[in-house]
Amino acid sequence: MHKVTLIPGDGIGPSIADVAIKVIEAAGVSIAWERVEAGVAAIEKYKDPLPQHVIDSIKETHVALKGPLATPVGSGFRSINVALRKEFDLYTNLRPARSFEGVASRYHDVDLVIVRENTEEFYAGIEHYIDPKRSAAETIGVVTRAGSERIIRFAYEYARKHGRKKVTTVHKANILKYTGGLFLDISREIAAEYPDIRTEDKIIDNMAMQMVLNPHQFDVIVTTNLFGDILSDLASGLVGGLGLAPGANLGYSAAIFEAVHGSAPDIAGKNIANPCAIVLAGAMMLRHLNEAVAADRIEKAVAAVLREGKEVTRDLSPATPVGTEEMGMAIVRKLG
Ligand code: NAD
Repeated sequence: MHKVTLIPGDGIGPSIADVAIKVIEAAGVSIAWERVEAGVAAIEKYKDPLPQHVIDSIKETHVALKGPLATPVGSGFRSINVALRKEFDLYTNLRPARSFEGVASRYHDVDLVIVRENTEEFYAGIEHYIDPKRSAAETIGVVTRAGSERIIRFAYEYARKHGRKKVTTVHKANILKYTGGLFLDISREIAAEYPDIRTEDKIIDNMAMQMVLNPHQFDVIVTTNLFGDILSDLASGLVGGLGLAPGANLGYSAAIFEAVHGSAPDIAGKNIANPCAIVLAGAMMLRHLNEAVAADRIEKAVAAVLREGKEVTRDLSPATPVGTEEMGMAIVRKLG
């Protein structure tokens, strides 16, 4: 029996997390879920978006499955997602994007993995107004040698372990000569240690265009925090949308698995959200827990439901959709 922290999350979070729990149970893995609230739900209950008992629970279980957590735009509390990543030093954000048969999308046979640095640079939220009149605002994006080395090494190790052939480093070192320059220099140093893996680097703006024009040329992509955030949404758009994109936040002492997408307030409470992203994140979690057989079965069950295309949500079948719960049950049935 595994013990896992469950954060259902905001918006569509609780409904898609429920599906993930049912699917994992149907795959035969026994999990004692420790259910805790963070985000908007926790503000209402505890006046704190990240109560201490949430942190304590992850410290004890070392593994969490998390629904999306809303962050107010422009003002209000800081991102709980960023706070969790910092608290547990979850330096890797691993975001695979692959095509599924039966899903109408721009491309087929896309299979790439984004390795996003998850704790530094402009995403760290080190920013302020320079005066009370808000005449200007500053953000400090810190890129460290240690932080860059560990994420770039992760990307190369990942490539080697998973039989991937190429690592592309994405940066903006032509303009951000220090932060981007350091990241790029370190990527070249580390690439030299992995002669078996092809290596290249691309400037972020060109990279965005290249991914849209021909995503098949990419395999493993490693980049800094903000670029990785944007490119991973772009990558999900290439293969059928955010409803299909899982992610893992990995550190030395904890791992938090989640969908790439957010709380989708525009569709919350309507039973129309696609549950696949968090279900696939659940499969990534099972692999992390050495339950690879169950993880494979879940991925195959999701693929089968998508291939048949009869019991899929509105984002995939606008004319004849089923609801979140119904798609979840279809995945459960495939598991037998
Ligand atoms: P979003 O990802 O929530 O939604 C973007 C678009 O994709 C919306 O049109 C939404 O309806 C659609 N979408 C997202 N998930 C879907 C699903 N499972 N099925 C079908 N359609 C889906 O992005 P947003 O609207 O920019 O952000 C909403 C909130 O989520 C914000 O507060 C943001 O900070 C937060 N957020 C959290 C995370 C996280 O918890 N890791 C990630 C991204 C955004």
